[in-house]
Amino acid sequence: MKSAKKILNDEFDELVKSLQNVIRFNTEKSQPAPNAPFGTNVASCLEYTLNLAKSFGLDVYNCDGYAGHAELTGTGDGTVGILGHLDVVPAKAEEWLFPPYAAEIHDGKLYGRGTMDDKGPMIACLYAVKALKEAGFVPSKTVRLIFGCDEESGMQCVEHYFSKMPYPTVSFSPDGDFPVINREKGIFQFDVVCGKLPQGITVTAGERANVVPSLCTVTSPVPLEANSSRVTCATGENGYVCTCAGKAAHGSTPDEGVNATHPLLTALAKAFPDNATLKFLSEKVLDTTGDKWGIALCDEESGRLTCSLDVLRTAADGVLTATVDIRFPVTYTCKQMHDLLRANTPSEFQIVPQHTSEPLFVPSDSSLVTTLMDVYNGEMRTQLQPLAIGGGTYSRCLPNCVAFGPLFPKEEQTIHMPNECIILENLRTMAQLYLEAIYRLAK
Ligand SMILES: [Zn+2]
Repeated sequence: MKSAKKILNDEFDELVKSLQNVIRFNTEKSQPAPNAPFGTNVASCLEYTLNLAKSFGLDVYNCDGYAGHAELTGTGDGTVGILGHLDVVPAKAEEWLFPPYAAEIHDGKLYGRGTMDDKGPMIACLYAVKALKEAGFVPSKTVRLIFGCDEESGMQCVEHYFSKMPYPTVSFSPDGDFPVINREKGIFQFDVVCGKLPQGITVTAGERANVVPSLCTVTSPVPLEANSSRVTCATGENGYVCTCAGKAAHGSTPDEGVNATHPLLTALAKAFPDNATLKFLSEKVLDTTGDKWGIALCDEESGRLTCSLDVLRTAADGVLTATVDIRFPVTYTCKQMHDLLRANTPSEFQIVPQHTSEPLFVPSDSSLVTTLMDVYNGEMRTQLQPLAIGGGTYSRCLPNCVAFGPLFPKEEQTIHMPNECIILENLRTMAQLYLEAIYRLAK
Protein backbone atom coordinates (compact mmCIF):
# COMPACT_ATOMS: atom_id res chain seq x y z
CA MET A 1 0.00 0.00 0.00
CA LYS A 2 2.52 2.52 -1.25
CA SER A 3 0.01 5.29 -1.90
CA ALA A 4 -1.45 4.94 1.60
CA LYS A 5 2.03 5.29 3.09
CA LYS A 6 2.59 8.48 1.12
CA ILE A 7 -0.77 9.88 2.26
CA LEU A 8 0.09 9.06 5.87
CA ASN A 9 3.46 10.74 5.54
CA ASP A 10 1.91 13.82 3.92
CA GLU A 11 -0.67 14.06 6.70
CA PHE A 12 1.85 13.72 9.51
CA ASP A 13 1.54 17.36 10.62
CA GLU A 14 -2.20 16.97 10.86
CA LEU A 15 -1.71 13.75 12.88
CA VAL A 16 0.51 15.65 15.33
CA LYS A 17 -2.03 18.49 15.68
CA SER A 18 -4.84 16.04 16.39
CA LEU A 19 -2.68 14.24 18.94
CA GLN A 20 -1.93 17.56 20.65
CA ASN A 21 -5.68 18.20 20.92
CA VAL A 22 -6.21 14.76 22.44
CA ILE A 23 -3.33 15.27 24.92
CA ARG A 24 -4.87 18.56 26.08
CA PHE A 25 -7.76 16.67 27.67
CA ASN A 26 -6.60 15.81 31.17
CA THR A 27 -7.94 12.26 31.19
CA GLU A 28 -6.96 11.26 34.71
CA LYS A 29 -9.84 9.34 36.27
CA SER A 30 -12.26 11.63 38.14
CA GLN A 31 -15.79 11.72 39.60
CA PRO A 32 -18.38 9.86 37.53
CA ALA A 33 -21.18 11.80 35.82
CA PRO A 34 -24.03 10.66 33.51
CA ASN A 35 -22.49 8.84 30.52
CA ALA A 36 -19.08 9.70 31.91
CA PRO A 37 -18.22 6.82 34.26
CA PHE A 38 -14.59 7.97 34.56
CA GLY A 39 -15.27 11.72 34.71
CA THR A 40 -16.29 14.37 32.21
CA ASN A 41 -12.78 14.99 30.85
CA VAL A 42 -12.36 11.35 29.85
CA ALA A 43 -15.83 11.36 28.26
CA SER A 44 -15.07 14.57 26.32
CA CYS A 45 -11.80 13.12 25.07
CA LEU A 46 -13.59 9.98 23.86
CA GLU A 47 -16.23 12.15 22.19
CA TYR A 48 -13.57 14.28 20.48
CA THR A 49 -11.67 11.22 19.22
CA LEU A 50 -14.79 9.50 17.91
CA ASN A 51 -15.91 12.71 16.15
CA LEU A 52 -12.48 12.95 14.55
CA ALA A 53 -12.81 9.35 13.30
CA LYS A 54 -16.32 10.13 12.05
CA SER A 55 -14.97 13.09 10.07
CA PHE A 56 -12.67 10.58 8.32
CA GLY A 57 -15.74 8.61 7.20
CA LEU A 58 -15.36 5.82 9.79
CA ASP A 59 -18.34 4.33 11.63
CA VAL A 60 -18.20 5.12 15.32
CA TYR A 61 -19.83 3.77 18.46
CA ASN A 62 -19.77 5.23 21.95
CA CYS A 63 -20.33 2.50 24.54
CA ASP A 64 -21.91 4.57 27.34
CA GLY A 65 -18.71 6.53 27.89
CA TYR A 66 -16.82 3.40 29.03
CA ALA A 67 -15.13 2.88 25.68
CA GLY A 68 -15.83 3.46 22.02
CA HIS A 69 -14.80 2.27 18.62
CA ALA A 70 -14.22 3.51 15.10
CA GLU A 71 -14.31 1.07 12.24
CA LEU A 72 -13.66 0.60 8.58
CA THR A 73 -16.11 -2.07 7.48
CA GLY A 74 -14.78 -5.09 5.64
CA THR A 75 -16.37 -7.02 2.79
CA GLY A 76 -15.99 -10.42 4.44
CA ASP A 77 -16.03 -12.09 7.83
CA GLY A 78 -13.74 -11.41 10.74
CA THR A 79 -12.53 -8.34 12.56
CA VAL A 80 -9.07 -6.97 13.25
CA GLY A 81 -9.12 -5.23 16.62
CA ILE A 82 -6.74 -2.50 17.73
CA LEU A 83 -7.09 -2.04 21.46
CA GLY A 84 -5.72 1.08 23.15
CA HIS A 85 -6.81 3.62 25.75
CA LEU A 86 -7.40 7.34 26.23
CA ASP A 87 -7.15 7.54 30.03
CA VAL A 88 -3.84 8.41 31.68
CA VAL A 89 -2.12 8.03 35.03
CA PRO A 90 -1.96 11.23 37.14
CA ALA A 91 0.80 13.77 36.47
CA LYS A 92 2.23 16.11 39.11
CA ALA A 93 2.85 19.33 37.19
CA GLU A 94 5.65 20.45 39.54
CA GLU A 95 7.75 17.44 38.51
CA TRP A 96 7.54 18.29 34.80
CA LEU A 97 9.76 20.47 32.63
CA PHE A 98 6.72 21.44 30.55
CA PRO A 99 3.06 21.36 31.63
CA PRO A 100 1.76 17.77 31.30
CA TYR A 101 -1.40 18.77 29.44
CA ALA A 102 -0.06 21.56 27.20
CA ALA A 103 1.29 19.22 24.48
CA GLU A 104 4.35 21.37 23.81
CA ILE A 105 6.97 20.36 21.25
CA HIS A 106 10.65 20.82 22.15
CA ASP A 107 13.66 19.41 20.28
CA GLY A 108 11.61 17.06 18.15
CA LYS A 109 9.70 15.61 21.09
CA LEU A 110 6.04 16.10 21.96
CA TYR A 111 5.70 16.32 25.74
CA GLY A 112 2.58 15.36 27.64
CA ARG A 113 0.92 12.72 29.77
CA GLY A 114 -0.39 10.06 27.41
CA THR A 115 1.90 10.85 24.47
CA MET A 116 3.30 7.29 24.58
CA ASP A 117 0.73 5.65 26.85
CA ASP A 118 -1.48 5.41 24.94
CA LYS A 119 -2.88 8.36 23.01
CA GLY A 120 0.07 8.76 20.63
CA PRO A 121 0.02 5.21 19.26
CA MET A 122 -3.80 5.18 19.05
CA ILE A 123 -3.93 8.41 17.04
CA ALA A 124 -1.15 6.98 14.85
CA CYS A 125 -3.35 3.92 14.22
CA LEU A 126 -6.36 6.13 13.50
CA TYR A 127 -4.44 8.11 10.88
CA ALA A 128 -3.08 4.85 9.44
CA VAL A 129 -6.67 3.66 8.89
CA LYS A 130 -7.59 7.07 7.44
CA ALA A 131 -4.71 6.88 4.95
CA LEU A 132 -5.61 3.32 3.92
CA LYS A 133 -9.19 4.42 3.35
CA GLU A 134 -8.16 7.46 1.32
CA ALA A 135 -5.89 5.26 -0.79
CA GLY A 136 -8.95 3.20 -1.72
CA PHE A 137 -8.18 0.16 0.43
CA VAL A 138 -11.30 -1.97 0.97
CA PRO A 139 -10.47 -4.53 3.65
CA SER A 140 -11.81 -8.02 3.70
CA LYS A 141 -11.87 -8.02 7.52
CA THR A 142 -13.43 -5.12 9.41
CA VAL A 143 -10.82 -2.92 11.09
CA ARG A 144 -12.00 -1.81 14.53
CA LEU A 145 -10.09 0.69 16.68
CA ILE A 146 -11.24 0.29 20.27
CA PHE A 147 -10.64 3.22 22.61
CA GLY A 148 -10.77 2.13 26.26
CA CYS A 149 -11.19 4.76 28.97
CA ASP A 150 -10.12 2.99 32.16
CA GLU A 151 -7.02 0.94 31.42
CA GLU A 152 -4.99 2.50 34.20
CA SER A 153 -7.42 2.03 37.07
CA GLY A 154 -9.46 -1.12 36.94
CA MET A 155 -10.25 -1.96 33.30
CA GLN A 156 -14.00 -1.54 33.78
CA CYS A 157 -13.97 -0.08 30.26
CA VAL A 158 -13.22 -3.33 28.46
CA GLU A 159 -15.40 -5.32 30.82
CA HIS A 160 -18.40 -3.14 29.92
CA TYR A 161 -17.54 -2.83 26.24
CA PHE A 162 -17.07 -6.56 25.66
CA SER A 163 -20.30 -7.30 27.51
CA LYS A 164 -22.00 -5.50 24.60
CA MET A 165 -19.65 -6.17 21.68
CA PRO A 166 -18.09 -9.42 20.43
CA TYR A 167 -14.34 -9.97 20.57
CA PRO A 168 -12.48 -9.24 17.33
CA THR A 169 -11.06 -12.32 15.58
CA VAL A 170 -7.47 -11.14 15.97
CA SER A 171 -6.12 -8.04 17.66
CA PHE A 172 -3.06 -6.11 18.59
CA SER A 173 -2.66 -3.54 21.31
CA PRO A 174 -0.25 -0.64 20.73
CA ASP A 175 0.32 -0.42 24.48
CA GLY A 176 3.53 -2.40 25.06
CA ASP A 177 6.80 -2.89 23.24
CA PHE A 178 8.05 -3.47 19.70
CA PRO A 179 8.53 -5.82 18.08
CA VAL A 180 5.74 -8.07 19.51
CA ILE A 181 4.94 -9.32 23.01
CA ASN A 182 3.19 -12.66 22.61
CA ARG A 183 3.91 -14.24 25.98
CA GLU A 184 2.98 -12.58 29.28
CA LYS A 185 3.38 -14.63 32.42
CA GLY A 186 0.38 -15.37 34.63
CA ILE A 187 -0.11 -13.08 37.62
CA PHE A 188 -0.91 -14.52 41.03
CA GLN A 189 -0.97 -11.88 43.75
CA PHE A 190 -2.15 -13.14 47.10
CA ASP A 191 -2.00 -12.73 50.85
CA VAL A 192 -0.51 -15.39 53.06
CA VAL A 193 -2.10 -15.02 56.46
CA CYS A 194 0.66 -16.52 58.59
CA GLY A 195 0.83 -17.24 62.30
CA LYS A 196 1.66 -14.92 65.18
CA LEU A 197 4.96 -13.17 65.57
CA PRO A 198 6.79 -13.43 68.92
CA GLN A 199 5.35 -11.23 71.65
CA GLY A 200 6.10 -7.53 71.09
CA ILE A 201 7.38 -7.84 67.51
CA THR A 202 5.78 -5.96 64.64
CA VAL A 203 6.93 -5.94 61.05
CA THR A 204 5.75 -3.43 58.44
CA ALA A 205 6.94 -3.16 54.85
CA GLY A 206 5.78 -2.10 51.40
CA GLU A 207 2.73 -0.30 50.07
CA ARG A 208 1.71 -2.03 46.88
CA ALA A 209 1.18 -5.64 45.89
CA ASN A 210 3.31 -5.29 42.75
CA VAL A 211 6.29 -3.29 44.04
CA VAL A 212 9.39 -4.66 45.81
CA PRO A 213 9.40 -2.86 49.19
CA SER A 214 12.03 -0.15 49.62
CA LEU A 215 11.42 0.20 53.35
CA CYS A 216 10.88 -2.26 56.19
CA THR A 217 10.35 -1.35 59.84
CA VAL A 218 10.57 -3.76 62.78
CA THR A 219 9.82 -3.02 66.39
CA SER A 220 11.29 -5.46 68.86
CA PRO A 221 11.70 -5.72 72.63
CA VAL A 222 15.19 -7.18 72.10
CA PRO A 223 18.04 -5.82 69.97
CA LEU A 224 18.48 -7.36 66.52
CA GLU A 225 21.71 -8.29 64.83
CA ALA A 226 21.25 -7.53 61.18
CA ASN A 227 24.18 -8.21 58.92
CA SER A 228 23.57 -5.31 56.57
CA SER A 229 24.71 -1.74 56.16
CA ARG A 230 21.15 -0.99 54.99
CA VAL A 231 19.79 -1.50 58.52
CA THR A 232 19.72 1.15 61.22
CA CYS A 233 18.45 0.54 64.75
CA ALA A 234 17.44 2.97 67.48
CA THR A 235 15.90 2.60 70.90
CA GLY A 236 12.23 3.51 70.96
CA GLU A 237 9.40 3.66 73.46
CA ASN A 238 8.88 -0.12 73.72
CA GLY A 239 12.34 -1.42 72.90
CA TYR A 240 14.07 -1.16 69.55
CA VAL A 241 13.03 0.19 66.18
CA CYS A 242 14.99 -1.09 63.21
CA THR A 243 14.54 0.07 59.65
CA CYS A 244 15.99 -1.24 56.43
CA ALA A 245 16.24 0.72 53.21
CA GLY A 246 16.03 -1.33 50.02
CA LYS A 247 15.45 -0.47 46.41
CA ALA A 248 12.02 -0.57 44.79
CA ALA A 249 11.41 -2.49 41.56
CA HIS A 250 8.41 -3.85 39.74
CA GLY A 251 7.05 -7.02 41.33
CA SER A 252 7.51 -8.86 38.03
CA THR A 253 11.28 -8.30 38.18
CA PRO A 254 12.18 -8.76 41.87
CA ASP A 255 15.88 -9.26 41.15
CA GLU A 256 16.12 -5.70 39.81
CA GLY A 257 15.33 -4.38 43.30
CA VAL A 258 16.64 -4.90 46.82
CA ASN A 259 13.93 -6.27 49.07
CA ALA A 260 14.05 -4.27 52.32
CA THR A 261 12.49 -7.11 54.30
CA HIS A 262 15.38 -9.48 53.63
CA PRO A 263 17.98 -8.52 56.30
CA LEU A 264 15.38 -7.90 59.00
CA LEU A 265 13.39 -11.11 58.47
CA THR A 266 16.66 -13.05 58.44
CA ALA A 267 17.78 -11.39 61.69
CA LEU A 268 14.39 -12.00 63.34
CA ALA A 269 14.37 -15.66 62.29
CA LYS A 270 17.82 -16.04 63.86
CA ALA A 271 16.69 -14.37 67.09
CA PHE A 272 13.46 -16.42 67.28
CA PRO A 273 14.30 -19.81 65.69
CA ASP A 274 11.11 -21.48 66.97
CA ASN A 275 8.69 -19.06 65.32
CA ALA A 276 7.04 -20.80 62.33
CA THR A 277 6.04 -17.56 60.59
CA LEU A 278 9.55 -16.11 60.60
CA LYS A 279 11.03 -19.44 59.55
CA PHE A 280 8.59 -19.76 56.64
CA LEU A 281 9.10 -16.20 55.37
CA SER A 282 12.87 -16.10 55.70
CA GLU A 283 13.53 -19.59 54.36
CA LYS A 284 10.90 -19.91 51.64
CA VAL A 285 9.19 -16.69 50.57
CA LEU A 286 12.32 -14.53 50.24
CA ASP A 287 13.68 -16.79 47.50
CA THR A 288 12.73 -14.95 44.29
CA THR A 289 12.98 -18.14 42.19
CA GLY A 290 10.37 -20.00 44.25
CA ASP A 291 12.80 -22.90 44.48
CA LYS A 292 12.97 -23.10 48.28
CA TRP A 293 9.17 -22.80 48.48
CA GLY A 294 8.86 -25.75 46.07
CA ILE A 295 6.97 -23.71 43.45
CA ALA A 296 9.74 -23.02 40.90
CA LEU A 297 7.75 -23.56 37.69
CA CYS A 298 9.58 -23.11 34.40
CA ASP A 299 8.79 -23.61 30.72
CA GLU A 300 10.53 -23.24 27.41
CA GLU A 301 8.13 -20.56 26.15
CA SER A 302 8.56 -18.02 28.93
CA GLY A 303 11.24 -19.16 31.37
CA ARG A 304 11.15 -19.21 35.15
CA LEU A 305 8.60 -18.16 37.72
CA THR A 306 9.40 -15.09 39.83
CA CYS A 307 8.32 -14.52 43.42
CA SER A 308 8.29 -11.13 45.12
CA LEU A 309 7.42 -10.55 48.77
CA ASP A 310 5.95 -7.06 48.50
CA VAL A 311 3.93 -6.12 51.61
CA LEU A 312 4.09 -7.14 55.30
CA ARG A 313 1.52 -6.12 57.90
CA THR A 314 1.24 -7.10 61.56
CA ALA A 315 -2.28 -7.18 63.03
CA ALA A 316 -3.03 -6.09 66.60
CA ASP A 317 -3.11 -9.75 67.71
CA GLY A 318 0.40 -10.30 66.28
CA VAL A 319 -0.71 -12.23 63.16
CA LEU A 320 1.49 -11.40 60.19
CA THR A 321 0.07 -11.11 56.67
CA ALA A 322 2.40 -11.17 53.68
CA THR A 323 1.38 -10.04 50.21
CA VAL A 324 3.25 -11.91 47.49
CA ASP A 325 3.39 -11.26 43.74
CA ILE A 326 4.10 -14.34 41.65
CA ARG A 327 4.54 -14.32 37.87
CA PHE A 328 4.28 -17.86 36.54
CA PRO A 329 5.17 -19.29 33.12
CA VAL A 330 2.64 -19.16 30.29
CA THR A 331 1.88 -22.88 30.01
CA TYR A 332 0.39 -23.02 33.54
CA THR A 333 -2.92 -21.75 34.94
CA CYS A 334 -3.90 -19.76 38.03
CA LYS A 335 -5.58 -22.89 39.42
CA GLN A 336 -2.39 -24.93 39.06
CA MET A 337 -0.45 -22.12 40.71
CA HIS A 338 -2.90 -21.93 43.60
CA ASP A 339 -2.83 -25.71 44.12
CA LEU A 340 0.96 -25.77 44.08
CA LEU A 341 1.14 -22.98 46.68
CA ARG A 342 -1.39 -24.71 48.88
CA ALA A 343 0.54 -27.99 48.75
CA ASN A 344 3.82 -26.31 49.74
CA THR A 345 2.62 -23.91 52.44
CA PRO A 346 2.08 -24.87 56.12
CA SER A 347 -1.57 -25.93 56.36
CA GLU A 348 -2.28 -23.51 59.20
CA PHE A 349 -1.37 -20.52 56.97
CA GLN A 350 -4.19 -19.21 54.79
CA ILE A 351 -3.69 -18.34 51.12
CA VAL A 352 -6.06 -15.59 49.94
CA PRO A 353 -5.84 -14.70 46.22
CA GLN A 354 -6.07 -10.95 45.52
CA HIS A 355 -5.37 -10.01 41.91
CA THR A 356 -4.90 -12.94 39.54
CA SER A 357 -4.70 -13.07 35.77
CA GLU A 358 -4.20 -16.01 33.44
CA PRO A 359 -1.10 -15.82 31.21
CA LEU A 360 -1.23 -14.49 27.66
CA PHE A 361 0.20 -16.90 25.14
CA VAL A 362 -0.17 -16.53 21.40
CA PRO A 363 2.29 -18.98 19.81
CA SER A 364 5.24 -17.48 17.94
CA ASP A 365 4.31 -19.43 14.80
CA SER A 366 0.68 -18.20 14.76
CA SER A 367 -0.21 -16.10 11.73
CA LEU A 368 -0.91 -13.05 13.94
CA VAL A 369 2.60 -13.11 15.40
CA THR A 370 4.43 -14.01 12.18
CA THR A 371 2.57 -11.27 10.28
CA LEU A 372 3.43 -8.58 12.83
CA MET A 373 7.03 -9.80 13.14
CA ASP A 374 7.41 -9.72 9.35
CA VAL A 375 6.04 -6.18 9.29
CA TYR A 376 8.47 -5.04 11.97
CA ASN A 377 11.58 -6.83 10.75
CA GLY A 378 10.81 -5.94 7.13
CA GLU A 379 10.24 -2.22 7.72
CA MET A 380 12.99 -1.83 10.32
CA ARG A 381 15.52 -4.13 8.59
CA THR A 382 16.05 -6.10 11.81
CA GLN A 383 15.92 -9.79 12.69
CA LEU A 384 14.34 -9.62 16.10
CA GLN A 385 12.28 -12.30 17.82
CA PRO A 386 8.96 -11.86 19.67
CA LEU A 387 9.20 -11.08 23.39
CA ALA A 388 8.14 -12.81 26.61
CA ILE A 389 7.55 -10.60 29.68
CA GLY A 390 6.49 -10.93 33.31
CA GLY A 391 4.38 -7.77 33.29
CA GLY A 392 0.81 -7.59 32.06
CA THR A 393 -0.32 -5.42 29.14
CA TYR A 394 -3.75 -4.40 27.92
CA SER A 395 -3.65 -7.25 25.38
CA ARG A 396 -4.57 -9.87 27.92
CA CYS A 397 -8.09 -8.38 28.12
CA LEU A 398 -9.13 -10.24 25.00
CA PRO A 399 -8.29 -13.51 23.31
CA ASN A 400 -5.85 -13.75 20.41
CA CYS A 401 -4.25 -10.37 21.03
CA VAL A 402 -0.59 -9.36 21.31
CA ALA A 403 1.15 -6.11 22.16
CA PHE A 404 2.75 -4.36 19.16
CA GLY A 405 4.70 -1.20 20.09
CA PRO A 406 4.87 1.68 20.76
CA LEU A 407 8.19 1.46 22.64
CA PHE A 408 11.13 0.66 20.37
CA PRO A 409 13.95 -1.64 21.54
CA LYS A 410 16.47 0.24 23.73
CA GLU A 411 14.39 3.42 23.60
CA GLU A 412 14.44 5.33 26.89
CA GLN A 413 11.00 4.94 28.39
CA THR A 414 9.03 7.74 30.06
CA ILE A 415 5.71 5.96 30.48
CA HIS A 416 4.05 6.79 33.84
CA MET A 417 6.98 9.12 34.64
CA PRO A 418 7.38 12.90 34.71
CA ASN A 419 8.16 14.39 31.27
CA GLU A 420 6.49 11.61 29.32
CA CYS A 421 7.14 12.38 25.67
CA ILE A 422 7.08 10.89 22.20
CA ILE A 423 9.89 11.41 19.71
CA LEU A 424 8.13 12.75 16.62
CA GLU A 425 10.28 10.73 14.23
CA ASN A 426 9.36 7.59 16.18
CA LEU A 427 5.70 8.58 15.93
CA ARG A 428 6.10 8.83 12.18
CA THR A 429 7.78 5.41 12.04
CA MET A 430 5.23 3.70 14.26
CA ALA A 431 2.35 5.11 12.20
CA GLN A 432 3.88 3.50 9.10
CA LEU A 433 4.36 0.20 10.96
CA TYR A 434 0.75 0.28 12.11
CA LEU A 435 -0.44 1.03 8.58
CA GLU A 436 1.42 -1.95 7.15
CA ALA A 437 0.24 -4.22 9.98
CA ILE A 438 -3.43 -3.23 9.61
CA TYR A 439 -3.20 -3.66 5.84
CA ARG A 440 -1.71 -7.14 6.06
CA LEU A 441 -4.02 -8.38 8.81
CA ALA A 442 -7.22 -7.04 7.20
CA LYS A 443 -6.64 -7.36 3.44
ZN1 LIG B 1 -1.18 1.93 28.65
